[in-house]
Amino acid sequence: TDRAGPVVKVGMRGVQMIGVPARNAPVDAEAIVVALKSRTIPAEDAVAQSLDALDWLKGAGCRQFFFKYCSTFDSTEEGNIGPVAEALLDALGADFTIACPAFPANQRTVFKGHLFVGDVLLNESGMQDHPLTPMTDANLVRVLQRQCGSKVGLLPAEVVAEGADAVGEHYNELHGDGVRMAIADAVDEDDLRALGAACARLELVTGGSGVAIGLPANFRADGLLGPPEEAAALPRVEGFAAVVSGSCSRATREQVQRMGAKHPAFKIDPLRLAEGEDLVAEALAWAEPKLGRGPVLVYTTADPDAVAAAQAELGRDEAGAMLEDALAGVAEGLVAAGVRRLIVAGGETSGAVVGRLGVTGLRIGPEIDPGVPWTVGLGDPPLALALKSGNFGGPDFFTEAFERLP
Ligand code: ADP
Repeated sequence: TDRAGPVVKVGMRGVQMIGVPARNAPVDAEAIVVALKSRTIPAEDAVAQSLDALDWLKGAGCRQFFFKYCSTFDSTEEGNIGPVAEALLDALGADFTIACPAFPANQRTVFKGHLFVGDVLLNESGMQDHPLTPMTDANLVRVLQRQCGSKVGLLPAEVVAEGADAVGEHYNELHGDGVRMAIADAVDEDDLRALGAACARLELVTGGSGVAIGLPANFRADGLLGPPEEAAALPRVEGFAAVVSGSCSRATREQVQRMGAKHPAFKIDPLRLAEGEDLVAEALAWAEPKLGRGPVLVYTTADPDAVAAAQAELGRDEAGAMLEDALAGVAEGLVAAGVRRLIVAGGETSGAVVGRLGVTGLRIGPEIDPGVPWTVGLGDPPLALALKSGNFGGPDFFTEAFERLP
């Protein structure tokens, strides 16, 4: 949704598929996102999944493809950015693309091929200590070259600043020099728009979500898009409202507290759950009679001391998996009881809930807060879902979000 939200915001009707769909079926959208979990899996698996996604998207009628990765270029010496980008170029018979993780609105800029996070280089930003993908080199030409068989070059800031025509000419120069992928400098949104305009003729574009903001204008200029004001339109979904929260992030803890002050709230205690008490059934029996009177909240959210205590007793991963499973069960029961407007707080928790509900795709609607759109599941019955990862959203996110639904 990080990648889909901004595209919808600038006027393309968007749908997100959770993983590569099993079958080809028509999708009513102008932009389709296939969400993979391929950042840190072995490179050959990431390549295979990405090629599957490409095939499926081609089958769905897509004409340009975007490989999205983190704006901090999260990857290892082996990949997966380089290998996936090269495999996609091969599969498309394409000979050139750019790589641009810049996202100035989120303080990620690229200058002379070096990635900055705020005022510091990537390798001083904390990302050097990342548990899975430590980033110890801010020179992205070098980083990407280590992952690639073909030549990596640089599209420098002074060319980008001149605008789309200059960028387009420079593509030809780079290609003439044997460069197959160029790290593109970009320090502000004008740069992203210039890059986007110059990308109109590329089969494949790669980058963070920032560089995507320049692409819809190309399709609009070709008369391929409907009215921009309708891009985020969602069908109206009638039914009860609920919040399920498994995030323990600071922002969520405050949101849970604020919601609990105004609406009924049920806390699931990990230690009681681990003793075999059926707290899912208890939560559902508690919630059902209240649903007609307004949103309810069921949560495992706890402060760091309580989380540490549960983890010490149960193990970190075991506690996490058990609570995700419990909240997925609660979500399933709530939907069975008529909930059709559901907010899920927590990235992993959202994955568990969406999996349990059998949601395979989402229509992307209006942004509630930066990075969190309302969506409607493509299945039946229609279900409005807001999937909020940990630190997103203002303090009254839970209550305000329902007011933003059509
Ligand atoms: P976020 O987006 O804030 O990182 P996630 O859902 O991705 O939230 O991750 C939170 C993890 O913490 C989940 O695995 C969840 O099951 C686990 N968790 C939630 N509540 C507790 C708790 N009270 N004690 C221990 N772990 C918890």
